Amino acid sequence: MTEPTSTTIRTASGKPPVEADATAGFWRKGPSDTLPPPDMVGPYMRNRPVPAEPVEGRKAWIIGSGIAGLSAAFYLMRDGGMKAEDITILDTMQIAGGSLDGAGNADEGYIIRGGREMNFNYDNFWDVFQDVPALELPAGFSVLDEYRLVNDNDPNWSKARLMHKQGQIRDFSTLGLSKLHQWEIVKLLLKRKEDLDDITIEQYFSESFLETNFWYLWRSMFAFENWQSLLEMKLYMHRFLDAIDGLTDLSALVFPKYNQYDSFVVPLTRMLKEKGVKVQFGTRAYDLAMVEEGGRRTVTAIRCKQDGKDDSIAVGPKDVVFALTGSMTEGTAYGDIDTAPVLARGNADPGEDSDWMLWKNLAKKSPVFGKPEKFYGNVAGSMWESATLTCKPSPLVDKLKELSVNDPASGKTVTGGIITFTDSNWVLSFTCNRQPHFPTQPKDVLVLWVYALLMDKDGNYVKKPMPACTGREILAELCYHLGIVDQLDAVAANTKVRLALMPYITAQFMPRAAGDRPRVVPEGCTNLALLGQFVETSNDIIFTMEASVRTARIGVYTLLGLPKQVADISPTQYDIRNLMKGARALNNNEPFPGERLLHRLLDNTYYAHILPPLPEQDDSLRERAEAELSALLGKGSQALGAVYGWLDRLRDGSRDTSK
Ligand SMILES: Cc1cc2nc3c(=O)[nH]c(=O)nc-3n(C[C@H](O)[C@H](O)[C@H](O)COP(=O)(O)OP(=O)(O)OC[C@H]3O[C@@H](n4cnc5c(N)ncnc54)[C@H](O)[C@@H]3O)c2cc1C
Repeated sequence: MTEPTSTTIRTASGKPPVEADATAGFWRKGPSDTLPPPDMVGPYMRNRPVPAEPVEGRKAWIIGSGIAGLSAAFYLMRDGGMKAEDITILDTMQIAGGSLDGAGNADEGYIIRGGREMNFNYDNFWDVFQDVPALELPAGFSVLDEYRLVNDNDPNWSKARLMHKQGQIRDFSTLGLSKLHQWEIVKLLLKRKEDLDDITIEQYFSESFLETNFWYLWRSMFAFENWQSLLEMKLYMHRFLDAIDGLTDLSALVFPKYNQYDSFVVPLTRMLKEKGVKVQFGTRAYDLAMVEEGGRRTVTAIRCKQDGKDDSIAVGPKDVVFALTGSMTEGTAYGDIDTAPVLARGNADPGEDSDWMLWKNLAKKSPVFGKPEKFYGNVAGSMWESATLTCKPSPLVDKLKELSVNDPASGKTVTGGIITFTDSNWVLSFTCNRQPHFPTQPKDVLVLWVYALLMDKDGNYVKKPMPACTGREILAELCYHLGIVDQLDAVAANTKVRLALMPYITAQFMPRAAGDRPRVVPEGCTNLALLGQFVETSNDIIFTMEASVRTARIGVYTLLGLPKQVADISPTQYDIRNLMKGARALNNNEPFPGERLLHRLLDNTYYAHILPPLPEQDDSLRERAEAELSALLGKGSQALGAVYGWLDRLRDGSRDTSK
């Protein structure tokens, strides 16, 4: 008898990898394979692992108090069993949360650098927040419980997703894709990731594709620039394939109740601090000292500036270090109604006083740490600006009410996500999320958020690029596109504007090739994991909170030697139902070529429901399906008759219930 063979993917040490990759193998079940599929998510993955090595006496240093660093602390305790007092988080700033911000008040104006579009499949993020006590609900409820309470009872959708011609809603009922455009998307989905190094979106797609509804919806929702990574766009398409039919009216999205700082950072930091995790602010790490022996790299010290003075934190060989390689909000410059923001970062080099120094210095040590300059080295290509408006009643609020799905004061969904002006030279968008957006916000105040993608074009009304504008000028441009610029004075008198110009906001989307981003635990590293948005994972996308949590989880499990896997992204992309409804949405909600044939095959079978319902209510399916087949095969094809007969036999056979 031959031994059972196994195709289980294992690391050099013979252990299954912590980071599962569903694109590397799936058909692998065998007697010696004990693990669930690589992209399985669900309660079976919630096991608490027994650490292979003791954690007692080990210390953890976490650089960066954004969601990545906070999640690393969470996983070290929950799954690694590390004591809270052995964990220290270091941060340059004086407040935790990093890019998850939200500050200000009604008098000075509130500020959020952005909002948070989210979906159901943030599996690692929800894994954390199912265990974090709720912000407002009584003890025993979690942030996830609170989130669902809000979103399950208040659907998100938009009635004015695209606008043009100074205040008119543009038809956004379909994605507006021709057959050629649809084919370009399908071909991109079929391409291997390895074949897309350093290719940009505009190099691949036709010019007319970049003018479609699809592209306006996509680029503004996810903040893609035409010159950015095609590979990243492909990964996004796979990740959100299940949501493409909810892309036009944004019904695919869910949002937190408040801004991201109050919704997520406050409850998570409260929990970590109550347990005893230490946070040391005013500390910028700029290098890691390491010893290298036989290809093994071990961090021995963290070089940092503590309140501007040089310092060094000793790291023992059994201690673990988690370092954020970069932040999309690094170097943010601020402005207000009278002041345009002034950037302190150079276009190609961020300078010595930047958080990027840490990754820069690591990259000098070995190619395993990647190429940071591919991401920070083109500020003109990666920056954009946002404005937060704190609004008292004015013509702007009146106009907003016309474009909202609920009364803005109702506490429910307002615009349901961003509204984009397709004829704006800046590609300007704005949104009003559920109000109040801050727990302390007075009843007569609304908080709106504005952003644009193109930073080098003059506005249509204000003849300047957005970064050169004061808050008042940006307000004027917004009012122009809303068709209320004649009432600008009344709007400005009742609106506070705070600006945030972010030089690296889309640095993570810049064109990249294999090896440009380091792995979470780079080859040879014994006690160092890298976190955040500039780190390679098998298939996940970036510019999401989920991606940062994923890197933290992979890092903790790997460095502590926990026998536990982090599942690949949810397998929704392989679900045939999603493929079918995605194909229908790409085909402008019309049945896609061959769809009626599939109906003819599957209607009256167990699988009938996997197909989107057909628009026609009559009995013409047979004729329409035959016409579809003729079109697909070419009229007069000899195969046609045989296929019709085969379909008929199959259908009649499936109706025969006697067997
Ligand atoms: C405008 C905007 C819109 C967004 N929209 C969405 C969205 O719709 N959906 C979504 O899921 N995500 C969205 N994101 C992305 C999401 O917020 C981020 O991906 C995530 O918060 C990044 O977390 P992080 O911990 O990896 O890094 P960051 O939060 O960027 O962490 C940076 C922190 O680390 C500190 N730090 C960095 N380097 C060092 C160092 N060397 N030494 C000491 N401290 C250091 C910084 O001071 C800062 O506090 C958006 C982000 C922005 C800014």
